[in-house]
Amino acid sequence: MRCFLLIALSTHSFGHNFLSPLTTLRSAHSTLSHAFTRRPPYTTIQMEETLRKALAEKQSAVDSQGNAVRALKAAKAAKADVDAAIEALNGLKLEKASIEKQLQATVSGGGGDGSLNREAFRQTVNNTLERRLFYIPSFKIYRGVAGLYDYGPPGCAIKSNVLGFWRQHFVLEENMLEVDCPCVTPEVVLKASGHVDKFTDLMVKDEKTGTCYRADHLLKDFCNEKLQKDLSITAEKAAELKHVLAVLDDLSSEELGAKIKEYGITAPDTKNPLSDPYPFNLMFQTSIGPSGLSPGYMRPETAQGIFVNFKDLYYYNGNKLPFAAAQIGQAFRNEISPRQGLLRVREFTLAEIEHFVDPENKSHPKFSEVANLEFLMFPREEQMSGHSAKKIPLGEAVSRGIVNNETLGYFIGRVYLFLTRLGIDEDRLRFRQHLANEMAHYAADCWDAEIESSYGWIECVGIADRSAYDLRAHTDKSGVALVAQEKFSEPREVEKLVINPVKKELGLAFKGNQRMVVEALEAMNEKEALEMKATLESKGETEFLVCTLGKNVTITKNMVTISKEIKKEHQRVFTPSVIEPSFGIGRIIYCLYEHSFYTRPSKAGDEQLNVFRFPPLVAPIKCTVFPLVQNQQYEEVAKVISQSLTTAGISHKIDITGTSIGKRYARTDELGVPFAITVDSTSSVTIRERDSKDQIRVDVERAASVIKEVTDGRTTWADVWSTFPHQSSASADDE
Ligand code: AMP
Repeated sequence: MRCFLLIALSTHSFGHNFLSPLTTLRSAHSTLSHAFTRRPPYTTIQMEETLRKALAEKQSAVDSQGNAVRALKAAKAAKADVDAAIEALNGLKLEKASIEKQLQATVSGGGGDGSLNREAFRQTVNNTLERRLFYIPSFKIYRGVAGLYDYGPPGCAIKSNVLGFWRQHFVLEENMLEVDCPCVTPEVVLKASGHVDKFTDLMVKDEKTGTCYRADHLLKDFCNEKLQKDLSITAEKAAELKHVLAVLDDLSSEELGAKIKEYGITAPDTKNPLSDPYPFNLMFQTSIGPSGLSPGYMRPETAQGIFVNFKDLYYYNGNKLPFAAAQIGQAFRNEISPRQGLLRVREFTLAEIEHFVDPENKSHPKFSEVANLEFLMFPREEQMSGHSAKKIPLGEAVSRGIVNNETLGYFIGRVYLFLTRLGIDEDRLRFRQHLANEMAHYAADCWDAEIESSYGWIECVGIADRSAYDLRAHTDKSGVALVAQEKFSEPREVEKLVINPVKKELGLAFKGNQRMVVEALEAMNEKEALEMKATLESKGETEFLVCTLGKNVTITKNMVTISKEIKKEHQRVFTPSVIEPSFGIGRIIYCLYEHSFYTRPSKAGDEQLNVFRFPPLVAPIKCTVFPLVQNQQYEEVAKVISQSLTTAGISHKIDITGTSIGKRYARTDELGVPFAITVDSTSSVTIRERDSKDQIRVDVERAASVIKEVTDGRTTWADVWSTFPHQSSASADDE
């Protein structure tokens, strides 16, 4: 869920991007290493600073040598002296050019050694994804609509596998209560949650053409471009720009506007001046029913559907805490100018968990299962002091109070396991804590799982302890108490604040609004009630805001009694806290595409072949079946194996085209199919593993069950490899 901030209301979902790491594309023929290799950001930063300083020094050396040459010429010095000075100048210029080249390579992420830079890498991945219909720009024949994409067949299969694993890893494992609520949501719900008033991004307009841009994106692009392309900026200026990037999510509307002015940022397309930033609500508005009188919105998140059902879900759970509810569904956000392809879209699938817990006990019984995990964490102190993310054992992060509580820590650990098991590279996954102002005022602590892609660090999962905010907001608006009870084994004597609205007086004063005023008085917390008591005693009356009426009313001394009494209590009634992991499924899938992609040379070495190294768990098709040559007997065997695979529930594809086997392998490697069965006899077949290209020989009857075991994760390819006879690749693999 996006946070509603007290100061800077912003819905930034992208993580900080200030540590542009070096990334290079490796041709992974013999190794299964990742397409991107990342040097530690710390080294990159140091190197960049050193190079910027060296460049500034070299520039001043060039300038003074240039002056020296001019002075010699003006003084009509001897030709030999002038030539020597020019030679020295040229030498300095060459040295400067060499530093510039190194700096360019450092800041752009390109290796400078012929390897693809990040844009080229992205282009290659996206071309493959679009060509093989992982995704299709929606409504393409009508020129498409920005921020809307279709999933084609392999994309759909991957999404379904990711969601299947999500259900298994979270819903099943934690006994969560899954619900499925409508996308169309009445206004009152989103008014209560705060979305109608505050679900905004800051927008600026081209003052002449009216074209809209997201204010923080323009500032971010400006800083990144300056850092990457303007090699003449000083190390100090570079540090300032990096700081702006680091605190971008923290900037208020005024601060953003001031920076845009200070840096002279104009409309990217026209260079026209820009308006001051102002909030734009991201929800798609609609009306429910034909009258047009019942306003509604397409939900911007799935969470509200769970909150409004809390009472029934709590009852369903035997009136016990903690418990979690989960929902997978579409969310809609009218993004101002979606540019980052599949990462920022206007309709996307969210998978959200609302874990309800007693605010006085946020321990988690299974925390010990994740306490020893160690991965990159980026606490806010480290961000503010310009350090980078570092590996911290999760148990230590919780015991040192870096992570607010065990339940939040437990979910951070479970999210880490979920993402890495899907195939996300753990070195390009970090958990970043929200900065103080970035976090909603009511939140206890928030961490984003950010994944590094060619677009930088991207927020893919938000994990927030939202305290009791959401349930309280819906309690206030609906009048239905969304609370939990703790029954005491022995009654307890407690000093209780007792608020007794005098209904007769309130009825006389407020008539039809009496009920709303009574409820608001009863809903006061201790601090508010004691303040009211003091004011009534000193002044005889006080102004009082009744949210449900949307206005202040005057309460006089005779309308309410407020006192403290000793009472016997049999139970404690409280509003549960909510810990919310919220998964952007499309973003996770896109990052998975990038982390899984690599190229390797064809056997002839004349072309680069694309491969997605999806783990069997997410691979869109688990297996292909190829008769080695077009021959009726082999085709019959292929059909029998296909039938067994279908019975075993394994998605597969038969390719009986006469194309060379190498080409057929290449086609399926590009779809990330992990195994291929090649029928080259009627009694036994070969099974080839995609990344190693190793092949084993298996009896026809065993083929489907071997694939089943290895794709289900009951065995590994390494085990299979050590069990069955090996097949030399030369006979079948002619890529
Ligand atoms: P939020 O409620 O803003 O924290 O968003 C929850 C999750 O939804 C984020 O962690 C993202 O993964 C995802 N998300 C948010 N906005 C978009 C978008 N415009 N396109 C795709 N995914 C999004």
